Amino acid sequence: MNKSVLITGSTSGIGLGIAEVFAKNGYKIMLHGLEKNGAELASEIGKKYQVKTGYSNANLLDSKAITQLVEDTIIQLGSIDVLINNAGIQYVSPIEDFPNEMYEKIIAINMNAAFYAGKAAWKHMKEQKFGRIINISSVHGIRASEFKLAYVTAKHGVVGMTKVMALEGAPYNITSNAICPGYVKTPLVENQIKDQAKAHHLSEEEVIDKIMLKKQAVKEFIPIETIAEMALLLATDHATTITGTTFTLDGGWSAQ
Ligand code: NAD
Repeated sequence: MNKSVLITGSTSGIGLGIAEVFAKNGYKIMLHGLEKNGAELASEIGKKYQVKTGYSNANLLDSKAITQLVEDTIIQLGSIDVLINNAGIQYVSPIEDFPNEMYEKIIAINMNAAFYAGKAAWKHMKEQKFGRIINISSVHGIRASEFKLAYVTAKHGVVGMTKVMALEGAPYNITSNAICPGYVKTPLVENQIKDQAKAHHLSEEEVIDKIMLKKQAVKEFIPIETIAEMALLLATDHATTITGTTFTLDGGWSAQ
């Protein structure tokens, strides 16, 4: 295995879990994210799994920095075979109080960044006749919840983008798919649990049972490993015909 993967937002949560699983399977890894220990994490993963790794803290609010991130991946790892658009943020508020700057930030990081990264990787994937674009959308890419207007809008947008990239990529063996998880216990969700507990005067356990996992038939957080294994399958050589679709890993949420 000498394929390389760039995973945005991989110094925390789901992205870090995906990086570990890909490294374990021999992929060269471009770790990316704003966490201060990013370089350290990249070198630990490299040593643990004996694979080449790189690290970047490119700010996804800056389109030029995103193009550079893709170029840096190619320079440091030799190619970009798999692009996993994973970085994302959340903000919860009723519409009338939703700050414009948070709306714009969420659209930029959760949606626009996937376009800039995909566009920058496109010509390389086209030339090498191999590309796997995997977007970590959300069950909120196909379902809505109140107070999450920007997030739901961005995640639905990512699902649309996934389909267009699948159509245009098909002649070049570039596939594009979206993974749509339910709740996963990561720093992003742990912050929401704390905020909701305060807002609703509930204990953190009550927030998890009564609010968070209410819509999931399986009352368990989605394991990060499940998402990583799904991404690994989509990245394989033999996944050429799996394209333009969404994979809901949501404990039955969207079955309703
Ligand atoms: P997380 O907060 O643990 O990690 C987010 C990552 O994005 C971090 O590495 C952070 O540094 C990076 N990031 C944020 N803003 C950035 C910016 N401006 N520039 C560069 N990097 C930036 O979150 P997570 O829960 O692991 O979420 C990962 C993805 O999965 C997100 O797209 C999220 O929407 C999606 N998702 C999460 C859940 C969940 O329940 N946790 C469910 C469905 C989908």
